[in-house]
Parts: sequence; structure tokens; C-alpha cells
Amino acid sequence: MISASSQQSDARADAAIRHDWTQEEVLALFQLPFNDLLFRAQLVHRQYFDPNKIQLSTLLSIKTGACPEDCKYCPQSGHYNTGLKKEKLMAVQKVLEAAKKAKDAGATRFCMGAAWRNPPEKDMPYIVEMIEGVRDLGMETCMTLGMLSGSQASILAEAGLDYYNHNLDTSPDFYGNIITTRTYADRLTTLAHVRDAGIKVCSGGILGMGESLQDRAGLLIALANLPKQPESVPINILVRVPGTPLESAREVDGLDFVRTAAVARIMMPKSYVRFSAGRESLSEEIQALAFLAGINSIFMGCKLLTTPNPDEDHDFQLLNKLGIAPEAVTLPGDDLVKEQTVIQKVIDNRESAADAPYYDAIAAGRVTEKPEMQDTL
Ligand code: SF4
Repeated sequence: MISASSQQSDARADAAIRHDWTQEEVLALFQLPFNDLLFRAQLVHRQYFDPNKIQLSTLLSIKTGACPEDCKYCPQSGHYNTGLKKEKLMAVQKVLEAAKKAKDAGATRFCMGAAWRNPPEKDMPYIVEMIEGVRDLGMETCMTLGMLSGSQASILAEAGLDYYNHNLDTSPDFYGNIITTRTYADRLTTLAHVRDAGIKVCSGGILGMGESLQDRAGLLIALANLPKQPESVPINILVRVPGTPLESAREVDGLDFVRTAAVARIMMPKSYVRFSAGRESLSEEIQALAFLAGINSIFMGCKLLTTPNPDEDHDFQLLNKLGIAPEAVTLPGDDLVKEQTVIQKVIDNRESAADAPYYDAIAAGRVTEKPEMQDTL
């Protein structure tokens, strides 16, 4: 039997930030008995985070479809016919209206995603206006716009962008099976530009694309062994969108997702580990286990770019049942949002769920129908 003190000393070692993880070590974590793995992950989690707090974000697609990249999971790729209605870059004012609604509903971070290989120079001034406008609302900002040059990253940093999302998606070895129009090295270069510009990094991956356990380990190693670990690590479950090459991929086992989240928590103790796409496919019980494993960030109630997400009422009910509350954050201008204020907003929002507080791209007619769309932020 493993003693409690030996498990606690494992946890202390786990909580040190390491950048030298090996495949062998990570596979050993995956192969721990489930209870031992969750116990270790929870011990690590408690060293850096309040286990009963969660970070809430809202995500908006600001430019939809017609992407020249060939990511096999993505309905926004112009390579696949998924029935998605393409949309040009949204007007700045519309974006700010959506951000205001999200803020009123309790979200503290507003994420904006555009289906680009890289942002066109002509659109950069609008992107800057969006960042400045959302920050003026007192929210944290996050963007995902594809590959960035060093100078574009500097422009975004200057505008005040807090986070940039650019996922590694999968392991270096498996990557070529999923995307051929840009390389793993391209992705790492963009992450380096983002980091060098002083923007916080959001980077993660997707489970369920046909990858092996070794590939899941390889993805987490690639993230954890970056010179500085990402502040935010989204772990997605593939949403199998008809018309994409992965429409018939095998379903991800919920417990495998929980295991991956726990291993990510142990390897990246100070990162927010976010459950992004695919959450709606999991039961409340699996989601509760995922929180126990160290997931401490979710997208609330909104459409994930073009992907359905559990509606906000269900989210609030589940968080209430588990006694998990939105965390207080320091927002731009050092305006500390009092936790109670955020919680009250969440409660108010629950009581008026019919008011549809989140911007709904589908209801607004920006997307033709809702073929299960994949977002991977
Ligand atoms: S994941 Fe991003 S880069 Fe890849 S096809 Fe979709 S929108 Fe384009």
C-alpha cells in the first residue's frame, strides 16, 4: 500500500514546474490507477488554485469559415463541405455588444476567434479596436487568429491583448495526419512570437482524432516542455462534424478525458486547464470528475465559435451542485471584480436564462444551421 506521506511527497515533486518531461514518465502517469492519479492531480491542484473556483470565458466567432488550412477536424476549413455559412470579419460594434452581454452574464474573459491562416494586414486595425473596446469594458481579452508574425504579435500586445490562443492540437508525430498546410514548427514559431511580445499563451489540443496514448502524452510533453508553460491549456474532445474527414472518428471515453486532464494538471501545475469543445457530450458525473482532476476553466453557455456548448442554465446548475463558484479576477485598470458580484451575476443570469445573455451566432443567422461544429479553443 502506498502511504499518504509518500503520495504527498509525490505531489510536492509534481507541483514543481518542470520542462524536461519524458515519454516514459508521462505514460507512467497515464497508467496509474484512476484513484491514485486523481488524488495526485488534486493535491497538485490545491497547491496553486482554489479547488472550488472556476474561470469563466465566453467565445465569439468574429470571422467564420473559408479558412485555407486543412485541419481535418474543422468545419471552418475551406477544404471540406460542411454546410457552414461563411462570414466576413464582424463589425467592431457588434463584437463589443456581444462582449457587453457576456460581461453582464458573469464572464470575465472574452475570446474572439477568426478562421484565418494568419490575420490580413488590412484587418489589423479592426482587431486592435476590438481588443481596446473589450478591455474598456473591463474584461480580459483573448484572440485566436491563426499564425502571427513577430510584428503582428507586437501590435496585439500594444493594444492590450491578454491571451493568444494557438493550439498544438496533437503530438509532433501525429500532427501530419491531421494538418498538412502548416507544420508543427510553424505553430511553435507563432507561440514564440506571442510569448516574446509579452502576451499570455493559451495552447492545448484535441482528443479523439485517432491518436494513440503515446500521442496524447506527446502533446502534453510538447506543451509542458515549452520554455514557459502556457498560462491556459484547453483540452478539447473532437466534435465529429459531418463533412469533415474525422466525422466517423471513434468516440472519446469520458474517463480517458478525465485521465488526460489529470495528467495535464500534474505536468502544468500553474496553468488553467480548460475544458473546451466536446463538453456537452459528457455527463455531469464525468464533468464533476474532470473538475476533481484539475479542470478549472470552462466556456459558459455560449456557442463555441460554431460549436454547440451546454446551455448556461445546465452549467449553473452543475456548478451550484458542486459548490464551485466563478473566480474573482483582476481586470484591466486594476479593477478587482469582487467575487460576490460575479456570483450574483451568475445567479441573476440563471434566473433570466430566457434572456439569452450570450451572443448566439446561430440565432443571429450567422451560421446556416448547427451541424455539430468544432471549435478547439
Ligand atoms: S482550426 Fe483554425 S486554422 Fe484550422 S481550418 Fe479551422 S479555422 Fe482554419
